[in-house]
Amino acid sequence: MTHVKHTVMTNTLYDVVVVGGGHAGCEAAAASARMGARTALITMDVSTIGVMSCNPAIGGLGKGHLVREVDALDGLMGRAADASGIQFRMLNRRKGPAVRGPRTQADRKLYRKAVQGLLSEQQNLDLISGEVADLLLNGKRVAGVHLTDGTTITCGGVVLTTGTFLGGIIHLGDRTWPAGRVGEEPSTALAARLRQHLQLGRLKTGTPPRLDGKTIDWNAVGKQDADSNPQPFSLLTGRIEVPQIACGITRTTLATHAVIRDNLHRSAMYSGSITGVGPRYCPSIEDKVVRFGDRDGHQVFLEPEGLDDDTVYPNGISTSLPEEVQAAIIQSMPGLENTRILQPGYAIEYDYADPRQLDHSLESKQIPGLFLAGQIDGTTGYEEAAAQGLLAGLNAARLAAGSDCVRMSRTESYLGVMVDDLVTRGVSEPYRMFTSRAEFRLSLRPDNADERLTPKAIEFGLASTKRAKAFRAYQEEVELGLGMLSSLKASPNQLRSFGLSVNLDGRVRTAFDVLASSDTSLDDIVRIWPEVDGLSVGAKEALEIKAKYSVYLDRQETDAAMLRKEEARSLRVDLNYAGISGLSNELKAKLAAAQPSSLADAQKIEGMTPSALALVLAHAHRKQ
Ligand code: FAD
Repeated sequence: MTHVKHTVMTNTLYDVVVVGGGHAGCEAAAASARMGARTALITMDVSTIGVMSCNPAIGGLGKGHLVREVDALDGLMGRAADASGIQFRMLNRRKGPAVRGPRTQADRKLYRKAVQGLLSEQQNLDLISGEVADLLLNGKRVAGVHLTDGTTITCGGVVLTTGTFLGGIIHLGDRTWPAGRVGEEPSTALAARLRQHLQLGRLKTGTPPRLDGKTIDWNAVGKQDADSNPQPFSLLTGRIEVPQIACGITRTTLATHAVIRDNLHRSAMYSGSITGVGPRYCPSIEDKVVRFGDRDGHQVFLEPEGLDDDTVYPNGISTSLPEEVQAAIIQSMPGLENTRILQPGYAIEYDYADPRQLDHSLESKQIPGLFLAGQIDGTTGYEEAAAQGLLAGLNAARLAAGSDCVRMSRTESYLGVMVDDLVTRGVSEPYRMFTSRAEFRLSLRPDNADERLTPKAIEFGLASTKRAKAFRAYQEEVELGLGMLSSLKASPNQLRSFGLSVNLDGRVRTAFDVLASSDTSLDDIVRIWPEVDGLSVGAKEALEIKAKYSVYLDRQETDAAMLRKEEARSLRVDLNYAGISGLSNELKAKLAAAQPSSLADAQKIEGMTPSALALVLAHAHRKQ
């Protein structure tokens, strides 16, 4: 374990104080310090900084986009995942680059060590163990924090990232106890004080039992390997050095479902003792059995928690059933007949603040200078927390320096989509990121996160010199490649002599045109023009995606430009959405239910795309 510098301060003046050392707090503190603000990160116990509360994995569908964006803004998460990833996989590899999901399982200890190491190296940052019990207010404005040990720390801005700790209560069968995570105290004093200032609600989430890998029959379960060529999250990572391992796959059985059904009344989730709403997209195994009945079984991934750790995380079976029922569930699955539980699963219920009380900078509308980020805003997941934390830390530092706060647009980032969703619509269940939430997802791809966001990070003063230099080098190489692809030309006959099927229309094609066609690959280009092979792997991949997407992006930009012009157009309430051909049934139903009064409102419907909006617009024109 890296030794984190630990500072004890009394009545000290900081520009920014960040409360909480989870994924949101670490990014907030690092971003604020990178901006040059004198920053304190106060958390219950600095040795738990970088702990992963639930699954040992970073990224995934939609979430991987956020990690790439955090990295493009010079955040920590991508670099920490690269230093600890033990099973890199590109999800949705066979689908288009816009919906691919970079993901890695992480070695828990290595991830924590990497985050602590990065924070220890960060200038302008003090790490303080302590519990914040109250806000220090100057009129309505936040002016610091009071700790439970009597210390007061004054500052220009506060970022609260209390995660699952605020008013946290653990549920395990019929047992409940106050906690922030298993074995850690909750934040109760602060919860009571915040309730006087902000509108708080209750949400819940759950985690599965942890298994003893030595007692799993690995020969009896399926196997999933890592990608043979692991792709780092960060532009700053040359290559992945950590050894890659496989994980196991088993399934629940009819016997598992019978055990769950027989004991549903003993689940905290179903006995009525939890009032908070849980994540629909990360359901407990009880939920799955109730909602999906006896589907022939649910897949369970057996993910080792580290290279030198026998603990295994069974992904897909979070539960709050009593311990003995959990044991019966585990032993009903192939390969786990003799498996021992090391730590039972549990559910946790906690306070969140309605995010509609925030503006797009994540600053509270009621308490100027107070920013909220992460699970406290009603989200779930490390990546969602990290991205919000980074934005809140950046803005708290800007505010302390007397600058305007920045907001991210829905058209430029998933971070912008998430924040807009949160502050305009609020949440009715823990919010997690999906690619379907982004209307402009063709242009918001993991591969172009650096191009979209690093120039902004440089402009804000958020990016290190190292990042700026690496980005410029990458950009120059891509520009060089683009120049190369548009200057290399061949006639149809020449292309045919390389086995490509092209019309003999006499039109000379550039290498870019050839690559844009759906049935050519970069390998074809290299065969025809070997000089292209001299570019780096990253640049070649970027060029291929740019070429393949050019047609769609042009179309998306035309749709977007038309929509920007028509955004204020009001829509008649009696529009028959079912009659729009080309629109998915899901969107037809959502439009009919929401009855948006303007095109701008229709645009905010989850899953809406620019091309679907163009259809709605054409329909509205026809009905005028
Ligand atoms: P956290 O990681 O919770 O960190 C909060 C930090 O704040 C802690 O360091 C704590 O010590 C500190 N803190 C709190 N109050 C104070 C205070 N008053 N003073 C000082 N320090 C304070 N995510 C998923 O995506 N899917 C899941 O299924 C899922 N299941 C989960 C199940 C459980 C049981 C738990 C505990 C978490 C689960 N998560 C899940 C959520 C995931 O852990 C969080 O989304 C993520 O950790 C949120 O990051 P955060 O930074 O907002 O908060």
